[in-house]
Amino acid sequence: MSAGTAAPRIGVFGGTFDPPHAAHLALAAAALDRLQLDRLLFVVSGSPWQKHGVSPAPDRLKMMELALAQAPAALRERAEVERCELDRAGPSYTADTLALLRRRYGPDAVLMLLIGSDQFRNLPSWHRYDELPALAHIAVADRAGMPADHLPPRTLPAGVAGGTVSFEMPAIDLSATALRTALAAGDRHSIAAMIAPDVLDYIDAHRLYRLPKLAE
Ligand code: ATP
Repeated sequence: MSAGTAAPRIGVFGGTFDPPHAAHLALAAAALDRLQLDRLLFVVSGSPWQKHGVSPAPDRLKMMELALAQAPAALRERAEVERCELDRAGPSYTADTLALLRRRYGPDAVLMLLIGSDQFRNLPSWHRYDELPALAHIAVADRAGMPADHLPPRTLPAGVAGGTVSFEMPAIDLSATALRTALAAGDRHSIAAMIAPDVLDYIDAHRLYRLPKLAE
């Protein structure tokens, strides 16, 4: 980094993205804006150890790339899809991912781990979660239907890591689980606005989310 250049502020947004949907993009866009981020990484979970029966990681990576390619320019131009968890063997631990990103971007980079409020409550169950504050700030988005009283303050934390902050995003009552259920039932119509067209085409072409017996 050249002298006088401010340290980069980087949002790290991990997820299964099975499939990526409008709320993921809305969270990312809100974080870029509210947390004054320079870059945002969509970290596709390689092997999500807390979930079962997820789609193959290469499919989820490709869908995230397609979703971002069709996102509004303000998001597309400042975000990228990060594949480090696919390139690592074993379960995908956020502590390992943040350690890698800290090495990549250096000690002066401001790293912000972005999570939904449901994940914030779940945080103590994450593997080696006590290592996270040394590596990044934790930034929590409000998620539709979740009580907000347990969230951290809105004030941006100082320093490169160790703080917690919450930020507002539009309430979107949507989950990948609900989308998979709709897709398995053959319901395209009600979800069309929630999934990028190219992602829907990919889902069709690769026959994802079909119930085994209904797929024939
Ligand atoms: P699933 O239903 O399969 O559990 P999901 O829709 O919650 O998936 P993930 O890929 O597991 O999506 O989530 C990635 C991140 O996005 C998590 O931090 C989660 O809290 C957040 N997130 C997902 N849906 C929403 C939403 N509707 N509003 C705010 N945050 C969300």
